[in-house]
Amino acid sequence: MEDIRREALRWALANATEHGGKADLKAVVGKLVAELPGWRSKIRELSEIAREAVAEVNTWSREEQLLQLKKIGPVKRQKHEGRRGLSDLPDIHKYREVVTRFAPNPNGPLHLGHVRTALLSHEYARRYKGKFILRFEDTNPENTMLEMYELIKRDLRWIGLSWDEEYAQSDRVELYYKYAERLISEGKAYVCICKIERFRKLRDRGEACPCRDLPPDEHLGRWERMLAGDLSKGEAVVRIKTSMDHPNPAVRDWPALRPVTRPHPRVGERYSVWPLYNFSAAIDDHEMGVTHVIRGKEHEVNEQRQRILYEHLGWSYPTAVQHGRLTMPGMPLSKTQTMRAIQSGELSGYDDVRLGTVAALRRRGFVPEAIRQLMLDIGLTLVDSSLSWETLYAYNRKIVDRMANRYFFVPEPVEMLVHHAPKLREVRLRLHPNRPESGERILPLEWRGDALVFRLSGRDAASLKKGQVFRLKDLMNVKLVEKGKVLEADFQGMEVGEGPKLHWVSGCAVWLEVVMPDNRVERGLAEPAVAGLQTGVVVQFERYGFARIDTVKPKLTAVYAHR
Ligand code: GLU
Repeated sequence: MEDIRREALRWALANATEHGGKADLKAVVGKLVAELPGWRSKIRELSEIAREAVAEVNTWSREEQLLQLKKIGPVKRQKHEGRRGLSDLPDIHKYREVVTRFAPNPNGPLHLGHVRTALLSHEYARRYKGKFILRFEDTNPENTMLEMYELIKRDLRWIGLSWDEEYAQSDRVELYYKYAERLISEGKAYVCICKIERFRKLRDRGEACPCRDLPPDEHLGRWERMLAGDLSKGEAVVRIKTSMDHPNPAVRDWPALRPVTRPHPRVGERYSVWPLYNFSAAIDDHEMGVTHVIRGKEHEVNEQRQRILYEHLGWSYPTAVQHGRLTMPGMPLSKTQTMRAIQSGELSGYDDVRLGTVAALRRRGFVPEAIRQLMLDIGLTLVDSSLSWETLYAYNRKIVDRMANRYFFVPEPVEMLVHHAPKLREVRLRLHPNRPESGERILPLEWRGDALVFRLSGRDAASLKKGQVFRLKDLMNVKLVEKGKVLEADFQGMEVGEGPKLHWVSGCAVWLEVVMPDNRVERGLAEPAVAGLQTGVVVQFERYGFARIDTVKPKLTAVYAHR
């Protein structure tokens, strides 16, 4: 405890001396939490200690603060490279090997929130040379979707994750039965056949239902009947005994297994009783030797339930590490919301560009490394993080700018004839401005009589004024002489000068459709080299934005990423 006080004082002093003599409590708590991840669950205590330190430091004079800081020693700043934002895991020395897991429900596509959990779990396993497990939590036959197993794995691989072991809980049902039976026979679980409303009413008053205290033999009999399919959905549920006056009624005698008649998409009709999340996840974490459970703080109550099961079974609970929620403005990140919109046809699929699913981001040309870096920078904060698209764009831009080849594309093209131009047949331009080794693309120039034919983007064309001199990017300067349905211009010279540089297309341009982030489609002409690109390539259409080639045949389409 003295150590924590010392750290709090150190950060309060550092903060005060950097900010005109007044330390900011929030900032100090933030630093402490980052430094002491083991204290995340005791944030209130930590805040209290910080509050005392800040109050004390703020009564001191600046000289006093500097003096004390010198005495106590400077703060250790986190290195802002590589591991940015990612603090060490607590309890490392308690375990021989770090084992983490990612446990998705195969009932919908992964979105950025899942990626964060998966990435953190993976990253820590790798950092400590431990083991990373992928576990499909598919014990609800009613919403499990067969296609999701592969889709999720594809998304995880794409992000760059690899796992050392893979499980589907639907293969492990016998194991859950074994524990259920053991708990029932030991009187630590029971089969409740009360109507749910009645059970809840009693439970909320802290009272046992009539089933609870019947002898284990009676419950074993009911259990047999459940397994035989004699009790169906809603008629029976196995409950884990807790204290009936647990402060949170939702924890009291929580449900662990229930009958389900619907066949499971993976294992069919083999089982008519299925475990619920808290039961199978808790058992698996133990059975799989998971040392650190990293998950969203929305599972806090679940953790309380699971801890009780661990006590019943005489196990010690793994180190639980929670993170806050990740939200994006205007984005339905929840699986349920997403699935509903897809089913109703409101969204075109898991990769609809309006979604924050991994599939949608991939389709838009986000590169995995950008997502990885962003998530690791957000790190393991307990507070909720709101992520803006701009931030995501900035991370992606930093990477794709280096690798994406450049092309010209003009949306809503308008024709322009240029007179008196030198007789050029083509122009060769670099694929990447800073990477001559990437080679060149050829833009053929189209002649009609003795005029050169170009197309400009509708927006550029509209902005031009008669008499204005501008440059056709990387080619020549022209002066607008006529602004009718077709623009007419005069050649002015080749050398780079002042004035706007507009991109253009000329001979053999190809039609291209670009799907914008709001699902609107922009149609335009792209330079011919674009027709030779392959699906999946990320390019930059100059002055327009980054995009990923989505289809080549029967139609050339791209999906817009960002500016
Ligand atoms: N299947 C659970 C989920 O996706 C896992 C939660 C946990 O990590 O325990 O929410």
